[in-house]
Amino acid sequence: MNLIKFIESFPDESSCRIKFKEFRDEQGVICRKCGSKDHYWLQTIEKYECKQCKTRTSLRSGTVMQESKLPFRHWFIAIHLLTGTKKSFSALELQRQIGHKYYEPIWYMVQKLRLTMGSRDSKYKLEKIVELDEGFFESVDTEKDEDKKSAPKKRGRGSQKQTTVMVMASTVHDFSRSKKYGKPTKFRFVKMIVVNNLKGHTVGEKVSENITYDSVVKTDNYSSYSKIRDKVWCHIPQKLSPKEAGKVLPWVHTMIANAKRTLLGVHHMISTKYAQNYLDEFCYKVNRRYFGEQLFDRLLIACVTTNYENIIIITNLAV
Ligand SMILES: [Zn+2]
Repeated sequence: MNLIKFIESFPDESSCRIKFKEFRDEQGVICRKCGSKDHYWLQTIEKYECKQCKTRTSLRSGTVMQESKLPFRHWFIAIHLLTGTKKSFSALELQRQIGHKYYEPIWYMVQKLRLTMGSRDSKYKLEKIVELDEGFFESVDTEKDEDKKSAPKKRGRGSQKQTTVMVMASTVHDFSRSKKYGKPTKFRFVKMIVVNNLKGHTVGEKVSENITYDSVVKTDNYSSYSKIRDKVWCHIPQKLSPKEAGKVLPWVHTMIANAKRTLLGVHHMISTKYAQNYLDEFCYKVNRRYFGEQLFDRLLIACVTTNYENIIIITNLAV
């Protein structure tokens, strides 16, 4: 959706509420008390009422907007800018674009959207031929600041750190291309998982969680990767010099470079604690690169269907 179309479709708060309700009706409202899916819509107070037990559910309750006091239109603009642009938007830039007085609620909104993206992608496992390597991302440890239960400061403070990330790229053989030129495989999907260490146990666990057993996994011959052997049908470790790594694991390296460029360009420095969220946004968009205009609707559906009780809510910040 381009900007003109977006403004035409959602000119005001009520058009956003109507659209949001449409999505909730389509996906089905589930009563939090008795689990029933049958509801009346009470127009005057804009709430659903359970036909079984009379429990009322607000339009926002149980969705990404639960507990948020920001207008629906702010959320719509954020979803539009996050999905409709190739790169991304920092919370600070969004705050400027929306013209909201406070930084914290905007920051919280964007993080929740990123959590939604991550939760969506975590439902899928990679398959076929998977390249696996580790990447190190510059980040800032802002842990001390967050003791005060506030969003991280606009400009990252704290000690610089390297965040360790396991990067996996699923590919298929590309018979249409000459092997002399370009990569011999076609890229499909990517996952980037922040890990505390690269010990064999951690690597094995993440591989089981994110790659199907019947896959072929290619890595370098780093000792921890030997633990993958039991987790997938075929593991191909290869002794690689740094120069060769780009040839044998081309897509993983392309993805790491692209992610670094995007994060650096948009956010300058990311917080160690939320690094996973930024990477989730990057992966979500790469994995849906052919969705085009559908991406807005897809993220909105995820916003009304994700079970937020099952994912870690990032802060207790009231917004
Ligand atoms: Zn009920």
